[in-house]
Amino acid sequence: MAAGGSLSTFRLPPLPTIREIIKLFRLHAVKQLSQNFLLDLRLTDKIVRKAGTLTNAYVYEVGPGPGGITRSILNAGVAELLVVEKDSRFLPGLQGRTRCGMSRSDGRYMLSFCETTKLFTRQLYRVTFPPVVLESSSCCTCLLTLAPGKLRIVHGDVLTFKIERAFPESLKRHWEDDPPNVHIIGNLPFSVSTPLIIKWLENVSRRDGPFAYGRTQMTLTFQKEVAERLTATTGSKQRSRLSIMAQYLCSVQHVLTIPGRAFVPKPEVDVGVVRFTPLTQPRIEQPFQLVEKVVQNVFQFRRKYCHRGLGMLFPEAQRLESTGKLLQLADVDPTLRPSQLSVSHFKSLCDVYRKMCDEDPHLFAYNFREELKQNKSKNQEKEDEESYRLQ
Ligand code: SAM
Repeated sequence: MAAGGSLSTFRLPPLPTIREIIKLFRLHAVKQLSQNFLLDLRLTDKIVRKAGTLTNAYVYEVGPGPGGITRSILNAGVAELLVVEKDSRFLPGLQGRTRCGMSRSDGRYMLSFCETTKLFTRQLYRVTFPPVVLESSSCCTCLLTLAPGKLRIVHGDVLTFKIERAFPESLKRHWEDDPPNVHIIGNLPFSVSTPLIIKWLENVSRRDGPFAYGRTQMTLTFQKEVAERLTATTGSKQRSRLSIMAQYLCSVQHVLTIPGRAFVPKPEVDVGVVRFTPLTQPRIEQPFQLVEKVVQNVFQFRRKYCHRGLGMLFPEAQRLESTGKLLQLADVDPTLRPSQLSVSHFKSLCDVYRKMCDEDPHLFAYNFREELKQNKSKNQEKEDEESYRLQ
């Protein structure tokens, strides 16, 4: 390789590392988008292996950033990888790899170069294109050589992106069949991970969104504490609303823990990788909103006996009686703490609560906070009247 750009023959640079991509495109992390990057490709390979076999799979990656996990997915022999990234600064680094190409005409190789290759060549060899003559006929600089035409990049928001239209219809499987060859993988931004998993769990319950293809599997990162809550067993300290919501719909496994120091910049917490496979039969067969309401009410008083939170499902005037009836018909001990309730306990509670809602059409819409607010303003009115009379 000659310096100064004076020679017309040189070897193209190797594939830049993720660290080099970050440097080339000056991709400093933005805190508001929870950007913590993985630079070690052995680690991204390990995460991707946790998703299972990806040969000929259709994969949806959430938030590719500088592209570490993206590379590992492409190396796993997928049929197609669709990535959705909100921060446009990452697009040239990702796009570059799909836009570097070579064609042959009149026995000569015509080269077109992606932004990444151009920048990297300039930085490494201080050469600016053109002119270029290749020593070999293979363009070795980009992912194109690894996975030609397999990467689709979308500048968008994962919270609104409609994946159900993105992959071929032919991939669809019946719910009871084995999962389709469609996977969701992502090192999720912390700020989005909990609302996103709740949204996707609701999609699982309705069999729509990413689950229009069937029981699409997901391998996703969370703050370690959230990963522990998602997978917590009955009676454990981490047992929470998320444990029940995830486990009644999916088989959930905490498959890997990654120390915070593996990320750049280093987050304050460690990270857990969780794998979700939707169950053929949900363990609670009631609408998602109803299950969510029961679970939320129970866990709002997580240190009290479960009857305390369950009582809040009912208007004050009938609270004692209805809570007793619910617990009795569901055969649940009122003195169990929320964390001691199993998914089967919640199933019984939801089934009985559903019956009670069917008998009283106003019950489901009841919100104890609203009642509290109304009572407060009624009391205020009374006090005002009282003091007016005394004046
Ligand atoms: N996958 C990369 C890695 O492992 O190094 C980056 C992970 S970083 C934790 C999260 C990525 O998600 C960032 O690239 C960020 O810009 C992107 N992101 C944040 N919010 C997003 C959203 N609502 N939709 C799509 N991407 C988002």
